[in-house]
Amino acid sequence: MRNVKKKPRMKYKTLKGLQDILPPEISIWQHIETKAKDIFKNYGYREIRLPIMESTDVFTRSIGETSDIVEKEMYTFPDKGGRSVTLRPEGTAPFVRAYVEHHLYNDPAPQKFYYAGPMFRYERPQAFRYRQFYQIGAEAMGIDDPKLDAEIISMLSAILSSIGLEGLNFEITSIGCEKCRPAYRSALKIYLGDKLNTFCSDCRRRYDANPLRILDCKVPACIDSRKGSPPVLEYLCSDCKDHFDDLRKNLDLLNVPHSINPNLVRGLDYYTKTAFEVSSENLGSQSAVAAGGRYDGMVEEFGGPATPGIGFAMGMERIIPLIRDSLNITEGPELFICPLGPEASEKALSIAEQLRSNGLWVEINYDNTSLRSQMRKANRIGAKNVVVLGEDELKNREIEIKNMDGGEDIKTLLQGNEILKSLLPKIRK
Ligand code: ATP
Ligand code: MG
Repeated sequence: MRNVKKKPRMKYKTLKGLQDILPPEISIWQHIETKAKDIFKNYGYREIRLPIMESTDVFTRSIGETSDIVEKEMYTFPDKGGRSVTLRPEGTAPFVRAYVEHHLYNDPAPQKFYYAGPMFRYERPQAFRYRQFYQIGAEAMGIDDPKLDAEIISMLSAILSSIGLEGLNFEITSIGCEKCRPAYRSALKIYLGDKLNTFCSDCRRRYDANPLRILDCKVPACIDSRKGSPPVLEYLCSDCKDHFDDLRKNLDLLNVPHSINPNLVRGLDYYTKTAFEVSSENLGSQSAVAAGGRYDGMVEEFGGPATPGIGFAMGMERIIPLIRDSLNITEGPELFICPLGPEASEKALSIAEQLRSNGLWVEINYDNTSLRSQMRKANRIGAKNVVVLGEDELKNREIEIKNMDGGEDIKTLLQGNEILKSLLPKIRK
């Protein structure tokens, strides 16, 4: 016989910066998603599901060639046909691509959408920073009135507080539009030009290509060197200034506490006018929970009619640690049936099925183990109630539903499989 050499067994692990999300942790994710969806509904935002991969140009054109995301963080590779494709690092550019592709601008404005799903950035993994992370985001199109800006920020605030987040800081600013940007850009260049040699090589390159990006550099020396640079708010044109003043007025009207952060710069080039960020003091240096802003030029850039837009995205992995301890999520079946013997086992199977069709979470024990070990299992899986089906129970047709949380036990007669139906409300509470 030929000696077939066995391949050594491999142990696989998730890739660096990626994570598996397992139960019961998944319940926290579902809690956030459900709360967000409820609020989106009240504001008229409808779900949109987009591919996680796009043609690379979708991102380079909109996010900007000189942004950190495009320069360093994209998962870009040629597909088998040689086309350059990119795993989406964010949701707005793919959304605008779809908005233009499907002529969604023909619907009455504002057209409002939300999405939820994974994003990919090749970053250095650390606490609250992953290479695959999940965002829930919203986009509102076709209206440039600052009332819409205030409303979407207020919606974000409503979502975050319904999820159970407290003590968040809402920071806003305006980063101007294409009319006021040239003046700001030159003021910035004059200020930074004198000390350009103190900046990193990326920033020296950005100086000509896109000096505004220098404001977003995370290198400590650059942060130091750019201190005292001209504040963008002083360079706003009258249109942008009015827009910003109105936004603040409307946020006050809607009771959304906020502060102005003139140094807020977004990592994406497409933003105009309103930019905002929500942060928590409890996340260390990765403090941003959600961020967003206006992007009034992007639809046109993608070949659609000039259409204003505003949106935000919140990061699931940063929200979860903030609510984990305060959420009291207990998982476990509402009823666990312990059958003793083959006849009881069959009975258990059909009772369980009948109760499930009435909306109850029911588990049964499958193997022929002792009552003691079945009870131990019921405990381990967090069963709220347990019923034993033994010889006596089958003979006398009387069962007892034992409440595992110290609540009232219920004795009842077993008639066919219907009997437990009338007890559903009691079992459930
Ligand atoms: P940061 O300043 O933390 O790098 P960002 O400005 O790059 O954030 P955005 O592009 O505005 O982030 O994305 C919106 C939200 O998505 C962030 O506020 C954050 O909650 C989340 N997020 C962004 N990058 C990551 C990541 N690598 N891991 C986990 N969450 C992330
Ligand atoms: Mg980033």
